[in-house]
Amino acid sequence: MAKSNVDDLATLFAQADGAIDAATGGVVPPLQGATTFVRDENYDLMSADHTYARDDNDLYRLAESILAKAEHAQAGLLLPSGMAAVATLVRSVPNGGRIVLQSGIYWGATRFIREFCVRRQVDLIEVDCANLDALNTATADLEADLLWIETPSNPYLKSVDVAVCASIAERLGASLIVDSTAATPILSQPLDHGADVVMHSATKAINGHSDVLAGFLATGDENSPLWQWVLTDRATAGAVMGSFEAWLLIRGMRTLPLRVERMSENALAMAHFLESHDAVDRVLYPGLDSDPGHEIACRQMQGGFGSLLSFLVKGDRATALRAVGRLKLFKRATSLGGVESLVEHRHTIEDTVPDTLLRLSVGIESAQALIDDLDQALR
Ligand code: PLP
Repeated sequence: MAKSNVDDLATLFAQADGAIDAATGGVVPPLQGATTFVRDENYDLMSADHTYARDDNDLYRLAESILAKAEHAQAGLLLPSGMAAVATLVRSVPNGGRIVLQSGIYWGATRFIREFCVRRQVDLIEVDCANLDALNTATADLEADLLWIETPSNPYLKSVDVAVCASIAERLGASLIVDSTAATPILSQPLDHGADVVMHSATKAINGHSDVLAGFLATGDENSPLWQWVLTDRATAGAVMGSFEAWLLIRGMRTLPLRVERMSENALAMAHFLESHDAVDRVLYPGLDSDPGHEIACRQMQGGFGSLLSFLVKGDRATALRAVGRLKLFKRATSLGGVESLVEHRHTIEDTVPDTLLRLSVGIESAQALIDDLDQALR
């Protein structure tokens, strides 16, 4: 698997794209707490880019520019959570419009979109976008505003062909949105495959330390009506991060390529181990040769397949919960992409997920220690 992108991006992220505090020479960007900025006696701004913090924050600009470079984007925008990023895009759909939504993706996004569509009389088509025949059949002769996919998907780890979805979106007259949270901006650049907007919960691997909520959007066409909507929506509706969170996010991002590389290696090692384990029925991970989406994942990911994997234990709900309860290193908690490994019994909060499915977010610990932990828990 080519690692070139991880290497290329290592310098960009480690040096925060060369950010030096111009006032002091500090090698860390300064944390500006002010929400407003003074004017001089002629009523001119002291700095053209600093009027009021909802619009002007150097830390947002820095994070946005680093992440936009990684995504090969023209522009990027930070939001205060992944869901704020989802909501901004979904709110662009006019009353009576149509959204085509991948089924079986992050439950919070699905719930928000379903409720929005009911409130606004927006037609919602939910379809398994990893199954292109099903997607084509469900959308034949239709127009739509958004085609929304998530790849690899959470928690089923389905890989969706972004390039094919881009041509379907074109036929529908829709913008193609790709939630690329599990792939990270290191392992995949969906804009290169024809996506209109790429979306991340930066709460996950981009921050990587389970201590900041953040969202990120990037576009290949900053003049598009959708991007203009996104810019206006943040500026006027006011969904912005706090400065300290943006500062922490940049601090976390400096090790993003390194963490993603290690997490991907660890996750692949877990996937191989679990695949050959007697107590395991099936492993869902795009890095496995046996995975139905492996070929697509190889085409649109490089340097690894990410930290997220799911597996189904043999037995029933009680067997799965017993294994979860025995784990010592994997923390029993939701979320993903942090340096510490987590395990989740997804069915407990999302009852459409099989009750034997366990979702792992694999961190940067010793792979052998994590494997030993899984082994003792499954025995
Ligand atoms: N997209 C995916 C794939 C997610 O896993 C999540 C959260 O788990 C989100 C979006 C929402 O992000 P946030 O929790 O930052 O609002």
